[in-house]
Amino acid sequence: MSSSLETDLVIVGAGTAGCLLARRLIEQTSARVILLEAGPRYPGWALGAPLAGLRLRTNWSWRHQTVPQAALDHRQIPIPMGRVVGGTSSVNAMVAALGPPTDFDEWVRLGCEGWSADELAASLQSTGRSLFQPVLPVSPARFESPFSTAFLQACETLGLRHVEPFTGDRAQTCGLFPLFQQHGTRCTAAQQLVGLEQHPRFRLLTGQTVRRVLVERQQAVGVEIQSGRQQTVVRAQAGVILSAGALQTPALLQLSGVGPAALLRHSGIAVELDLPGVGQGLQDHVGAPVVIQSRAASPGRPSRWLQAAVQWLLGRSGVMTSNCCEAGCFLGPGTGLPFGEIFTHFQTRRHSQAVELMCALVRPASRGSVTIDPADPWGPPRIDPGYLTDPADWAPLRELVMTAREIAAQPALREFGLGAELLPGDQPLDEFLRRHASTCHHPVGSCRMGTDALAVVNPRLEVHGLRRLWLADNSIAPVIPRGHTAATALVIAEQGARLIARQLNGAAGGSPRPRREPRHCPTPTVAAHSIDAAGASARE
Ligand SMILES: Cc1cc2nc3c(=O)[nH]c(=O)nc-3n(C[C@H](O)[C@H](O)[C@H](O)COP(=O)(O)OP(=O)(O)OC[C@H]3O[C@@H](n4cnc5c(N)ncnc54)[C@H](O)[C@@H]3O)c2cc1C
Repeated sequence: MSSSLETDLVIVGAGTAGCLLARRLIEQTSARVILLEAGPRYPGWALGAPLAGLRLRTNWSWRHQTVPQAALDHRQIPIPMGRVVGGTSSVNAMVAALGPPTDFDEWVRLGCEGWSADELAASLQSTGRSLFQPVLPVSPARFESPFSTAFLQACETLGLRHVEPFTGDRAQTCGLFPLFQQHGTRCTAAQQLVGLEQHPRFRLLTGQTVRRVLVERQQAVGVEIQSGRQQTVVRAQAGVILSAGALQTPALLQLSGVGPAALLRHSGIAVELDLPGVGQGLQDHVGAPVVIQSRAASPGRPSRWLQAAVQWLLGRSGVMTSNCCEAGCFLGPGTGLPFGEIFTHFQTRRHSQAVELMCALVRPASRGSVTIDPADPWGPPRIDPGYLTDPADWAPLRELVMTAREIAAQPALREFGLGAELLPGDQPLDEFLRRHASTCHHPVGSCRMGTDALAVVNPRLEVHGLRRLWLADNSIAPVIPRGHTAATALVIAEQGARLIARQLNGAAGGSPRPRREPRHCPTPTVAAHSIDAAGASARE
């Protein structure tokens, strides 16, 4: 069965970037917008309670996993990105730590004019926001486990500075992470659609998997979507924006005939445009866990669930508001840019009587790719982050593991009740890394912004060589941020909306022309942010 729809703009993926982009484009242009999402609506009842949501999230995630990783004993690593309205912001660990804003200045050096920290801050200022004050509410944690308290004391003993709010903008700092939460409940990009759905120019269609972008005469004219056996063509007069995330945006481009010509021909896809960089340059934070037996019972142990649920339901407080990885530290050679991060897990997946110090490289040198599988182009993409394939990544990761051991050896943590080291234990470090290194869930950069031969979009987010096709999600990051990447996706969406609105309004160089709205588009019912531009924090 097939049918067709017609609109001005199609946005593919109601994820972290896609939801915000949709809202801003309705506000800043006169376009009719259809937002397409493969997953269902955001189930607040299941994902809203932070700790419970983390346990349930696999039901609302893509079952992505990497191809066997050459440097990691050929293990396949799961990367469960969100498949639900709000995208990965609906299933992530809610950490709101952008990292150093100067990371964006590096984007400019890599050919992304207009994306410096100062320029981004200036355009956000006009909306009353800042880089550290994204559109989603950010709150200080409401729960701090005894393990996190002891970890922070141990870090301070080693000379790290305890800062609040803890945004990861500097090395040699530690703290409790601010969270994308409000009143002890998860905040997701899905909130950007509150009120928008009543708008006459906006439609959200869920359960609709986009198969490909339709390209005619070097121009995007719509998309083909599939829902069960129903196929629909959505024609888009003004164009198409892909916000399907760093793992799916490149695969969608390739299925649309835009990508490395040899790969497309090999996969039986007609070539619309030979764009060799599509899917290349995938980057992710790679990490390894130091796991230590704990004599203190975990605050999230099953015998506490009933009490935790009651506490959350009655007062939105207690361990249920925790994101499990509550505290961390950023490390560097000096107090400038960090090269690594260590963060806590008060309970591991396998043992509730063990705690974890996750060691993450925040600026890995290894690069990978996302490609369609020539043997099954319409099946899951081949995701190869190339973890630890660059020899330069081994020494700093070993160093982080040694630092985690040093933190664990401090009196504050020993007194907390740490027992035997389960990982790495007595394994040689490199063998341990091969067996246990994994993703820190921050894939970016598979469709880089820039102006060189492997760049996929220009600094206005237009796909090189095509008209009316833009990308706006973490796939465009030219280099991985040193912080956590949900905040990056929100910055990309804010700036992307301004750039695309400017192009749609035909006012290059001028401000986007806001449309005189036929009906009011109410603001989501979320309160003002609790971290101000200067970085000072306030309780909710
Ligand atoms: C387990 C986990 C924990 C994390 N924890 C944190 C954290 O604590 N803090 C932090 O800052 N970052 C965290 N991240 C990373 C961060 O959440 C992501 O980097 C960010 O949200 C990605 O935003 P995005 O807009 O690029 O993609 P997404 O938010 O993933 O959005 C992509 C959307 O597109 C949809 N889509 C994809 N393909 C199609 C298609 N063909 N048709 C229709 N729809 C499609 C998807 O279903 C999804 O809704 C975590 C990630 C994971 C996986």
